[in-house]
Amino acid sequence: MPIYDTIVVGLGGAGSSAAYYLAQSGASVLGLEQFGPAHPHGSSHGRSRIYRTAYFEGAAYVPLVQRAQRLWRDLEAATGERIIRQTGGLVIGRPDCPTVRGAQATATECHLTHTLLSGDDARQRFPQFGLRDDEVALWDPDAGVLFPETCIRTYAALAVDRGAELHYGERVAGWDISGDEAIVRTRRAEYRSRSLVITSGAWTSQLVSDLRLPLEIERQFMLWFPPRDRDAVSPERMPVFVWDRGTEAETYGIPDFGDGVKVGSWHGRVASTPETADRVLRDDEAGPVRSFVEASLKPLIPRETESVSCLYTNAPDHNFLLGLHPEHPEVVLVSACSGHGFKFTSVVGEVATRLVHHEETGFDLRLFDPGRFRRTA
Ligand SMILES: Cc1cc2nc3c(=O)[nH]c(=O)nc-3n(C[C@H](O)[C@H](O)[C@H](O)COP(=O)(O)OP(=O)(O)OC[C@H]3O[C@@H](n4cnc5c(N)ncnc54)[C@H](O)[C@@H]3O)c2cc1C
Repeated sequence: MPIYDTIVVGLGGAGSSAAYYLAQSGASVLGLEQFGPAHPHGSSHGRSRIYRTAYFEGAAYVPLVQRAQRLWRDLEAATGERIIRQTGGLVIGRPDCPTVRGAQATATECHLTHTLLSGDDARQRFPQFGLRDDEVALWDPDAGVLFPETCIRTYAALAVDRGAELHYGERVAGWDISGDEAIVRTRRAEYRSRSLVITSGAWTSQLVSDLRLPLEIERQFMLWFPPRDRDAVSPERMPVFVWDRGTEAETYGIPDFGDGVKVGSWHGRVASTPETADRVLRDDEAGPVRSFVEASLKPLIPRETESVSCLYTNAPDHNFLLGLHPEHPEVVLVSACSGHGFKFTSVVGEVATRLVHHEETGFDLRLFDPGRFRRTA
């Protein structure tokens, strides 16, 4: 059995990208994934994801998101696959709500192109959206849609082209560090490597139990609504949006790519585990989303044609995990989720590669330090 340079545990959004950038850097890579490629049991399925630049979560994310967008465009250019589609984006809500205020503060601080539209201006320019008179919309032209299953498959294929060995249907049962080697156990074999990248999404607390990470798994839903007016909700005319109505959960949406407009709500759903998550949408959960669609998105029929469950891995501060294991410098921990991580998975793979090689990443990663919870515990 060879000793690999790096083993990547979990080949979803972040793991497929890490496998590629590691293999591209010349490392010998083994990737282990418990399910199949681009499967629907974790956090990266559902055919579309929003990317946006006026990041209301904070200006610290902007350099990462800008690099991520560059990498997604490069991936599309290199392969001809449909990876990214720029539609522009709206952040809608009252001017003083945290979402609009946060997006505007970041856009101003980072000198991003943006426009704050009054309710009237927004309704005129984007008649699909029924803004209330006391709401405004921040226009982020540099926002759009990623196609996650294609992103994952494309990175995985490129990783294999560069010599990575990717094993699907092989669950990692545990790992240890012995001397300067990582030992990774599955039912099939025991593998050895000089470094380890753990990109195991909703299963991260289980796989890194020594750190007692306070990650909470939240089961969420995406719903697809059919258009009354297909043209009005096409990606040529309808931007992606995040809408803060002052309720517990913001609502977001993605224009129609032929299967209806995807609408979901952000947080405020059921805490769960990957094993016990109830995959069936209840009527009392769908009800508020249908009412929102009926009140605010007139070109849609407010009855979903499809709903799919998905898992968030939430950190208490809703920031990512991206850095070295506090006790094992040969282990890189990555959980770019808290419900907003897919857009970053390209750059996260690149950063994880630099961390493995103990190189400068070029980013300030203090916000994402996996050891931060021990300090605050
Ligand atoms: C409904 C929903 C909507 C979202 N919308 C957006 C959005 O619009 N924009 C955005 O940027 N983000 C969004 N997100 C968040 C984003 O999708 C996630 O942050 C991102 O997909 C997380 O990627 P990941 O690689 O961490 O997890 P995953 O892609 O789930 O990958 C983890 C992988 O590890 C594997 N694994 C786990 N344990 C083991 C083991 N023991 N052995 C082997 N393999 C293992 C899993 O099977 C899985 O494939 C959304 C998430 C959801 C659920």
